[in-house]
Amino acid sequence: MSYIKKLKCRECGKTYPKEALYVCEYCFGPLEVDYDYDRIKKDLTKDVIEKRAKNLWRYKELLPIERMPTDGLFSGFTPLIRAKNLEKYLGAEEIYLKDDSVNHPTLSFKDRVVAIALSRAKELNFDTVACASTGNLAHSVSAHAAIAGLKRYIFIPESLELSKIVASLVYNPVLIAVEGNYDQVNRLCSEIVNKYKWAFVNINIRPYYAEGSKTFGYEIAEQLGWQTPKHIIVPCAGGSLITKIWKGLKEFKNLGFINSLDTKIHAAQAIGCCPIVTAIKEKSDIIKPVKPDTIAKSLAIGNPADGIYAVETVKESGGTGEYVSDEEIIEAIKILAGEEGIFTETAGGVTLGVTIKLIKQGNIPKSESIVICITGNGLKTQEAVLDKIGIPIKIKPNIKSFEENIKL
Ligand SMILES: *Cc1c(COP(=O)(O)O)cnc(C)c1O
Repeated sequence: MSYIKKLKCRECGKTYPKEALYVCEYCFGPLEVDYDYDRIKKDLTKDVIEKRAKNLWRYKELLPIERMPTDGLFSGFTPLIRAKNLEKYLGAEEIYLKDDSVNHPTLSFKDRVVAIALSRAKELNFDTVACASTGNLAHSVSAHAAIAGLKRYIFIPESLELSKIVASLVYNPVLIAVEGNYDQVNRLCSEIVNKYKWAFVNINIRPYYAEGSKTFGYEIAEQLGWQTPKHIIVPCAGGSLITKIWKGLKEFKNLGFINSLDTKIHAAQAIGCCPIVTAIKEKSDIIKPVKPDTIAKSLAIGNPADGIYAVETVKESGGTGEYVSDEEIIEAIKILAGEEGIFTETAGGVTLGVTIKLIKQGNIPKSESIVICITGNGLKTQEAVLDKIGIPIKIKPNIKSFEENIKL
């Protein structure tokens, strides 16, 4: 039983059949999934959701599949953690961490979008999936496709961290390292998608894929007891996650699952790649592409596909945008580990670093509730902190050496 009506151009509203289409032939706007919200309202209640298994498919009526979910059956419903130590450290009253660094199976938020993309790709009868990736998507597509028994072609920029290459190759995809940055990889994939009948999760399947990000917002609201926080700080690469968290919260409001929506959405980027935050700061609705140069490689998209919608989200919600330096990213990674025991990747350092800045600037009042999005796992970007965290103390295997070297 399907709740998808059709695909619809976000810009001009022209509609298309629910196939592997992604761009409007008339105005080149992106296509979005259009649902039968009247039927969803009849069939889906908070009660129904709460009784379901703890994975992202508990919201399946609001996700773009037509049959039973077949992929990502353990993805999503990650912990929302009250960060007591961090509250004390920052002098703030109510901070939560939405922790996708423990998502299943590949430890990043990308397991959400890929769960939806592959379920849909199978419904559309594809036998091969592919993606252009800054790292986490490569792992996620490789792993989910392995589980689903699909052929997999993964395109990455060759400069990716070693640990991220290993975390893809282990799933045995065809891994293609392109001599260029992500934006060049993406351009190449846009050409390939026209020639081969593959499901590129973030290109021709993108309208379905992107909907997976809504579950990040749904879960925040449900886990707070069907309420939303005053602030959500979201890391931005292509600008899809931030846009869809907002869409998801608005859907919950319209369905009556939350009573009010008074949440400011804040965009977080690294100084070395901040086209979205720059546009927000300059109050411009034009995204000027940049050449990325940052340790936050998972966010290093210089020409973000949903950049203008990210800016629109921030504006509509009354939020802000802020960036941090590579040093601030590392500092924030260490704070999160030291205070809350969570080892996040550079993207999480960006989000926490930006949160700290926004609190210091007074843009986030210390008395208001804050959710910080932790979207990836630090074990994948160990290079970023390797020479910034000290070294072990070497001793001989006897008590004398222990007492000589360790000052208690
Ligand atoms: C992909 C990704 C994001 C968000 O990406 P968008 O393209 O803006 O949706 C955030 N954090 C991590 C770790 C990611 O891999």
